[in-house]
Parts: sequence; C-alpha cells; structure tokens
Amino acid sequence: MIPAIGQFDLHMHSNISDGTLSPTELVQRMASTPVTMMALTDHDTLEGLAEARAEAERQNITFINGVELTCDWRGRVIHVVGLNFDDQADAFSDYMSHLHELRFNRAKKIAERLEKRGVGRDIFDIAQRYAGDGQIGRPHFAKALIELEKVESMQQAFDRYLGQGCPGDVKAKWPEIAQGIALIKDAGGVAILAHPTKYNMTFTKLRELMADMLSAGADGLEVSYPGVTPGHQHELIKLAKRAECWVSAGSDFHSPDQRWTALGRYPSFDAERIIVERLTA
Ligand code: AMP
Ligand code: MN
Ligand code: MN
Ligand code: MN
Repeated sequence: MIPAIGQFDLHMHSNISDGTLSPTELVQRMASTPVTMMALTDHDTLEGLAEARAEAERQNITFINGVELTCDWRGRVIHVVGLNFDDQADAFSDYMSHLHELRFNRAKKIAERLEKRGVGRDIFDIAQRYAGDGQIGRPHFAKALIELEKVESMQQAFDRYLGQGCPGDVKAKWPEIAQGIALIKDAGGVAILAHPTKYNMTFTKLRELMADMLSAGADGLEVSYPGVTPGHQHELIKLAKRAECWVSAGSDFHSPDQRWTALGRYPSFDAERIIVERLTA
C-alpha cells in the first residue's frame, strides 16, 4: 500500500544528530500519528538507523534508511536527503569519517571564536557533550550557550552567536554536491534536494541547482515541509513536473519543543510522482 499524504514522513532528526529524542523515542512518538512510512535523516550520520529500524518493526511502521548530507554547491551550503540506500555500503565509512573530522575541526574554530566573545572556556567541552559520539554542529553550541546562560533559546543562540554573519558561523569545505549524490546513488538510494526554499536563492538559481543535481544523478526535491508557502510550493511542484523528477515531503522534526512542526506534519499538496511510489515498488 502506498501511503497517502500525511501517512509518510521522510525527513526528521534524532539526538544522534541535533534532535532531542533518541531514535527509539522518535519512532514511539511516531506510532501515535497516522504515519505508516518514515525515514530518519540525521545530519551526516547513519548511527541512528539500526535502532530506529528495530523500533519501527515493533511499531509496525515501514522504515526507510535516510540521511541529510551537508554539501557544497558553488560555495553555498545545500542539504541533500538520501533515502533507501544500503547503510552497510563500504563508501559510507570513509565519507562519514571525513565529515566527522571536518566537523570536529570546525567545532574547534567555533569554540575559539565564541571564547573570544567571552562565553567562557568550557564551551567546546559542553558542545561536545551534547554531540556525544555524533556529528558536532552549531545546534550543539546553541545548547551549550543556553546551559552557560548566555542566551535563553536556540533561536537567540543563532541570532546572536551562530547564525549567518555571526562569529560562530564558521565555514567548512563541505563535500561537493555531486559527491554526496554519488555516495547515495552508489549505495542504491535516491537523492533529494532538501527544503529548496531555505537557501535564500531565487527560483532561477534553484532551477540551475536542480539541473546540476539531476545531471549528477539526483532523483528529485522536497516540495512540502514546514514553512514552505503555498506560492513557493506551487513553483516547486511546477519545477519538478518540468524536470520530470520525483517529489518528497517531511516534517524536518527536531524536537517536541519546536512549535512550528510536529511528526508527520507538513502542508498538504497535490503532485505527481511522489517518491513513496518508488519506495514502495
Ligand atoms: P551545522 O550543520 O552545524 O551548520 O548546523 C545547521 C543546523 O542548525 C540546521 O540543520 C538546523 O537544524 C540548525 N539551525 C540553523 N539555523 C537555525 C536557527 N536560526 N534556529 C535554530 N536552529 C537552526
Ligand atoms: Mn538540524
Ligand atoms: Mn536541512
Ligand atoms: Mn533536516
């Protein structure tokens, strides 16, 4: 059975990356929604997949392997969602350990810059504690800043310390988008452009990005996710139709505290070639 809109959720995070629920808790929470097919898409890590899959089996939810890769396209940071790949494929371990090193070194720089802003010398250790064995990123620094009582919320941490143009917004040389796509494709998966309207790009640029991605082997783009406006969604569906590619949707859930999203929730939409058809085939 192909799940209908609202019965699948193909984009979410656990505490293995920057979410707050463990993979098990996430799936258990999903069990009380109408969702029958879900993918866990933590940032740059596959470490939560086995645990989530095991719980999904217990809860009778179809589980799809997922990941959200941080990639570079012409100097911009772009997120690529990979779905339904073989998580045991050899290429993943090299790719992920490279990213781990990249993120670790970047975190050192973020800490250095924030220390100069007088947030205290413990900032790295606290952020690292929040990251655990996972891939360290700015959200872990946001939590550390809250713990150090420098800010009151994640949003404030990004506004004052970590967001675009702030000292903690340290750039890294992320893998080229074609590399990320190749990784997913070689492992038998599908590669999807995440939340296309969240990069501050014009639709002209977005079409260029999509054309580049499709020629690198990508399969489609997300057209429904929290915050997408009806007008933008319409444009994205049109873009997908012209490109004859697949469309996907997901909640981008990180935490029950985020008031603007919930598991299984994204704006309803009307489109052809919804990726669940392919995932069910
Ligand atoms: P990183 O990959 O380390 O650069 O961190 C990026 C992540 O930070 C995104 O995936 C979001 O989850 C989170 N993030 C980015 N901007 C904000 C913001 N303004 N408020 C809260 N979280 C944010
Ligand atoms: Mn995130
Ligand atoms: Mn993202
Ligand atoms: Mn995400």
